[in-house]
This record gives sequence, structure tokens and C-alpha cells, in this order.
Amino acid sequence: MTVSRPRVSIYPTDYAHAAEAVERAFADYAPPLAGKTVLLKPNILGAVPPERAVNTHPSVVAGAIEAAERRGAARVMVGDNSGMRVYGSNEHAATVAGIRQVAGDRYVNLGASPVKVAVDSAFADRLAVSREVLECDVLVSLPKMKTHVATGITGAVKNTYGHLVGGEKTWLHRQAQGPANFAAAVLDVYQVRPPDLVVMDAVVAMEGQGPSGGRPRDVGRLLASTDAVALDTVMASMMGIEPRAVPYLRLAEAKGLGTARLDAIDVDGPFEVVPDFKAPGISMGFGTWVSRVATYLFVTQPQVRRGKCVKCGSCAKACPVEAITMTDQGPVIDYATCISCFCCHEMCRYEAMDLSRRMRLLQGLWR
Ligand code: SF4
Ligand code: SF4
Repeated sequence: MTVSRPRVSIYPTDYAHAAEAVERAFADYAPPLAGKTVLLKPNILGAVPPERAVNTHPSVVAGAIEAAERRGAARVMVGDNSGMRVYGSNEHAATVAGIRQVAGDRYVNLGASPVKVAVDSAFADRLAVSREVLECDVLVSLPKMKTHVATGITGAVKNTYGHLVGGEKTWLHRQAQGPANFAAAVLDVYQVRPPDLVVMDAVVAMEGQGPSGGRPRDVGRLLASTDAVALDTVMASMMGIEPRAVPYLRLAEAKGLGTARLDAIDVDGPFEVVPDFKAPGISMGFGTWVSRVATYLFVTQPQVRRGKCVKCGSCAKACPVEAITMTDQGPVIDYATCISCFCCHEMCRYEAMDLSRRMRLLQGLWR
């Protein structure tokens, strides 16, 4: 019996021509859509405009709507569970991201109708997942190519973490502390409902301190596959990151969910490592004995940049262990409680939550 190799395609494009590239991706990979209910699941991390490269660009979402409807989909829905705790902000985030407008009446608030599903996980028996994720016929993931300070990268697999409704994400973060546990939790969620098709916005990616505090980086590509693990392996390789250094990719391979080896994937189109692409600069928790010693000696924790903080309180709302107290001076972090999940960094839209590595022995001596 021959086992087919996963395939990932790379389409050069810009946002002005994104719809054409998305159409090619659908032509190459989409299952039959006629008469089907299709959910398009972009990455809408928060209420941030398109030029910041935090969310999937609206032109990619618009292209996916056209491609699905051109194939006779009976119903197309567009939505995401934005942020970590704030259900009511889904629609606001989609509007600022420019996606609510292109979706029109296809927009659905994925936070409105959660369903508890049984999961095979070390961290939870059941998880609250959006009903539309479970009930759609075809799930099309539209992630963004980004770095991630907690998981190394965030792409097709991590985009499924947004299938969890609002506070369930912070709750699971609390249960699955540390890079290895969180990688396992991400895969537990992924396995609830893997996407049928992934079309990734890598036109303008995010490098550095992603998923929200990094810098936009022109890459000029759209990536597509039916295999989310293979697609993320290609994405990591384009970033210059060894895929097996990414905890969730290495674990996905160990669990038989896909390959984290670039040479095991058929890549169509112009593959190249983006020159000097900036990795997140945070330990991904594994690797050589040197990195294990470093992980033991040092801890990475958030620190407020007072000059940039506007005291919006989003970081405090996002913290799964309530380690942040809002005061007249802004957020104050209780480092003894902090679990280094970086949700506060992820949710700060003002680049006011820095991440710095400190000696464990000195933990608690800074504010
Ligand atoms: S650190 Fe960021 S998220 Fe927290 S209050 Fe300040 S601006 Fe808001
Ligand atoms: S302070 Fe920030 S990094 Fe620490 S637990 Fe809270 S959200 Fe996570």
C-alpha cells in the first residue's frame, strides 16, 4: 500500500490580487461545496486594523467567500472567537479587522452558541466549542502567518484554538501550563474538528513578538493545503524556524497527526526561506541540554511599558490566573501568580506589555 505524501501549495500574490490566488487554492484543494454549509474561520485575534498584520486580511476572506459561493455552497458563514475572555467583543473585533464588512450577512458571532463536547485530553473532559464549527459541512481555515511568543508559530493548527468559545481559552491555558502542556492542549482542540481546507494569508506576515506585538513583514504568498500540520511545517520553514523545534508540530508528528519534516511534503510553487525573518526570541521549551538549562535558570515574564500603556485593562481581563490588578498607575503584575502564558502580551494592542527573560532567583524583584 502506498501512503500519499502531504501536499502544500504556495501562490505568489498581493492583497489586490488575493481573490485570484484564493480561487486557485480552492480549485486545487476544495472538496465539493455545492449545497453545503461552509464555515470560513479567519484568525481575528482582536480589534486591530488590517495594516497591523494581526488578523487575516479582509481581501483573503472576501476571496474565500467568492470561491465558496461560486461553487454553489448553500450557506457561507464567517466568524472567529476573538481574544481570550471577552465574548461580546467578537463582532467589534471583526469590524475593526475589516472582516465584518466583507462578510455582510454571512457574519456569525461564534461566541453566541457554544456546545460542550467530550475530548480526549489530559486537561479537560469536555470543552466549549462553537456550534457552527461542529455543525458545518466544510470547515475552511483562513489563518495568518505569524510568530507566537508562547507557541513559536501560529498558523493552521493553532487557528483551531479559536474554535473554543471566549473564556474556555483562558481556562484551558490555566489547566495546561508550560510549553509542552500547552502544545498538547492545542492539539487536543485541533483534533475536535480539523479543517477540511486551509488557505493561509502569508501576504503580509508577522515576525518578532507575535501574535500581536510583532512587526508586519512582506512575504507575498498564499499557502494552501488540506493538511494543517504539513502547512504549518512549510510555514515554519519559510520563517527559518526548524519545524521540530516547535512543540506542537513535534508533538503532532509523535501522535501521528502529520509530519514536521519538510522533506516529507510535496511543496508546489516558489518555496524560499524569508531572509532574516525574526523569530519570537522566546524559548520554545525544548531542544539541546543548553536550552533546557536556560529554561531552568531563566523565566520569561511580562513587564508593563508604562509610557505606552493606555490603561485599557485588556491584559487584566485576559489573564487566566488573575495575576494582573488594574490600578491608577495601570496594570500591576503579581509575578508569584503569573504562569507565563503571555495572554496579556497577546491581547495588548498598544505594544505596552513587554516580555523579558529574567533569572529565576531574581523573580519578584521587578515590577
Ligand atoms: S498593558 Fe496594554 S492591555 Fe494592559 S492596560 Fe496597558 S495598554 Fe491595556
Ligand atoms: S500576567 Fe500575563 S503572562 Fe502572567 S499569567 Fe497573567 S496573562 Fe499570563
